[in-house]
Amino acid sequence: MMQDNTLWNSCLLFFEETLTPQQYNSWIKPLSFEVQGNQIILIAPNSFTLKIVQERFLPEIARQAELYLSCPPSFSLRVGDKPIDSLTAKSPALLMDEVPGSAPVPSVPLLSLNKHKNQSQLNPLLTFENFVTGKANQLAHAAAIQVAETPGTTYNPLFIYGGVGLGKTHLIQSIGNYIKQENRHAKICYVHATNYISDVVRAFQTKKFDEFKQFYNSLDLLLIDDIQFIADKPGTQQEFFYTLNSLIDGHKQVVITCDTFPKEISGMTPRLTSRFSWGLTVAVEPPGIEMRVAILLQKASLSNNPINEDVAFFIAKHIRSNIRELEGALKRIDAYSRFHKRSISVELAKEALKDLLACQNKQISMENIQKTVADFYRIKVSDLLSKKRTRLIARPRQVAMCLARELTQLSLPEIGAAFGSRDHTTVMYACKTIESLRNTDTALNEDFILLNQTLRN
Ligand code: ADP
Ligand code: MG
Repeated sequence: MMQDNTLWNSCLLFFEETLTPQQYNSWIKPLSFEVQGNQIILIAPNSFTLKIVQERFLPEIARQAELYLSCPPSFSLRVGDKPIDSLTAKSPALLMDEVPGSAPVPSVPLLSLNKHKNQSQLNPLLTFENFVTGKANQLAHAAAIQVAETPGTTYNPLFIYGGVGLGKTHLIQSIGNYIKQENRHAKICYVHATNYISDVVRAFQTKKFDEFKQFYNSLDLLLIDDIQFIADKPGTQQEFFYTLNSLIDGHKQVVITCDTFPKEISGMTPRLTSRFSWGLTVAVEPPGIEMRVAILLQKASLSNNPINEDVAFFIAKHIRSNIRELEGALKRIDAYSRFHKRSISVELAKEALKDLLACQNKQISMENIQKTVADFYRIKVSDLLSKKRTRLIARPRQVAMCLARELTQLSLPEIGAAFGSRDHTTVMYACKTIESLRNTDTALNEDFILLNQTLRN
């Protein structure tokens, strides 16, 4: 039946693009799928898979089904063997070019596409004027200026890589703002890679690939941020490969940012990583102390609560990781000085950053970890301690346990006890799970690093 083929392929594509390969291969790939009338039958190889699918993935499958079927389906899940000749044997990535034409076409708008159409997604505050340069970003800055002055003709693509909070987004937004100022008719699009993935998935689901292609291929400047997110997303990589080639062949500028050197992104097709290095690849590095001071002075001069060099040195000496954290410290000092109606001095900075500076030696409390993690995932602390096992709660709980293991001196049984009297083996399992997920799930890894940094501060 054509229709269930299309529906299931759409589900496969969605999951392949949104889950890690491990998750996809463990839970989705082994399923077989049938439609009988209004009933969707899912067959899992064992009861464990069945349970996981039911808990985690059924809502999304139901959502997809509503796009394709005329009335809401009922579901029947059972354990059984997957027929060898199953429709699911094809890779969804390959199916993107052969979307069957006979299924009903749901009219879901291309959300991010519509967003880009009206505006370029540029933040006018991120410009070259307020970008401080130093040894750490000199090369990247020079390349960005060159590209902004002569788009499409020098370095194409320009590939900027480096750690979080080092100014990659600021730099590529500056290129966009510069070109927009020079030529207000230029078609510019800034897109975060995760939004690009949503565009691809949605274009596939709604059969609006023409619209999708037309939009991206007609740009004069494409700024794509954090490209590492399309790792392990073969369908999106394929589309991006076409877009990249088409734009570069047409002498349209493409600028890409990434958290690592192109060849080091795992899960990225080599034809894409080699294409990335055709233009110019430049790094942004963590700033040295002089540059940190310069950045602080510049940021403070833009506010109406300036700081002197002594204060800037004091902050720069203690906050070393990245520029976003420098900004955070400055904001704290500014707020503290306003609240206490005192002008900014080294003494005041010391007080305002007290917790932050003490953190190096300070014990991080369990309450703090639980509260921070719960806030971050927008759930309640009581959920973390509860017996609830839905993924929305269970994953944050595992993250919190793993952070507690790293950041406190508590033993496994003590950590278990602090999470609603759980067994120490549960804590051990949580730590193992998170450690291995961090290698494959970039989003989770970033969340973890962010939480870790926040707590240490
Ligand atoms: P990334 O994209 O590399 O994670 P961002 O571009 O978001 O980092 O930078 C983090 C913050 O630091 C932003 O608010 C940005 O404006 C600021 N910033 C980064 N680099 C500089 C710089 N060289 N000069 C001034 N501000 C900077
Ligand atoms: Mg960024």
